[in-house]
Amino acid sequence: MKTLLPFLLAILLLAPAACGRHADERAPFPSPTPSLMPTGPGAPLLPEEAASAATPTNGAMRFELPTAMEPLSAWRPPLYPAPWAPSPYDHFYFERPIAADEVNWPLPNYRYGGVFFSSGQVHTGVDISAEYGTPVLAAGPGTVVSAGWGLFENNPNSPYGRAVVLRHDFGYQDQPIYTVYAHLSEIDVIPGQWLATGEVLGNVGDTGHTTGPHLHFEVRIGSDQFFSTYNPELWLVPPQGWGVLAGRVMDTNRNLLASFQVFVIARDGGQTWEVRTYGAEAVNSDPYYRENMVISDLPAGIYTIRILYYGTKKEADIEILPGRVTYFSFQGYLGFDPSLPPTPDPFESLSPVP
Ligand SMILES: [Zn+2]
Repeated sequence: MKTLLPFLLAILLLAPAACGRHADERAPFPSPTPSLMPTGPGAPLLPEEAASAATPTNGAMRFELPTAMEPLSAWRPPLYPAPWAPSPYDHFYFERPIAADEVNWPLPNYRYGGVFFSSGQVHTGVDISAEYGTPVLAAGPGTVVSAGWGLFENNPNSPYGRAVVLRHDFGYQDQPIYTVYAHLSEIDVIPGQWLATGEVLGNVGDTGHTTGPHLHFEVRIGSDQFFSTYNPELWLVPPQGWGVLAGRVMDTNRNLLASFQVFVIARDGGQTWEVRTYGAEAVNSDPYYRENMVISDLPAGIYTIRILYYGTKKEADIEILPGRVTYFSFQGYLGFDPSLPPTPDPFESLSPVP
């Protein structure tokens, strides 16, 4: 039971801030359940992997797990200047949509790709907790393409509530980039209006499917569609001296593991982060990293990544570099491989992970 506590706490903490369902009318709601996400030419699983696949948390529950905690301090260093692109594959193009004197990082318990267990809905953005009425800022320069109830629909029943969509002045690999700001209490802009980075577009609220005020923020690439989202934690500039961890967590046969628990433990102080890999539907991986988990805002330093893999504890030490993405992949019983993806995928792979 002890090992369930972090999980239950996460659910409780999530409840007031959960976005519930996010989709516009043009896309059906997926009905994901935590499960294996087959990606490869499906070689058979090892017996214990196959047995555990139906209930992916059962294996992990046999272990004593560390207690995941976010940093207690609300302090963050100043951000790198946006756009911040420290490598050909990195694209920290956006400022935070909440000002730096407030908590402006994603809620740790319901990150991109997280599954909201009461509904099974996979999260297509990140949530930033903020007081009702907190100004919401344009994350980058762009033009308002939608402002009102829902996205492009003027539907007071939209799960997004009052929302704004920006189409940015820049693209990515020749594709347009959009950002979405949802659950607003007020909207201060109109379609067609151009906004500079940091301009106020509205205020935090609790409209739509949410039971508490927060900002739901999405990054969409290629088209402004429910199924075109990417992990905002790979697009928001990090604090100076801090970095981002991206991982591709697979079983022994290289199938992506969905909603699989990963612990990241700071060697300096032992602070622990817990993340679950992306749910099996609705979200996309970066075309280069092809990740299924990201943790941003990690102070540079040495960390231990721990995965409890169906009876085997696997650990690796990894260095988070300032201003960079640190990448690892994990392959079941074969363990960790910190080497980077061998070649960048061409742009055509900007499509849902198969
Ligand atoms: Zn949300």
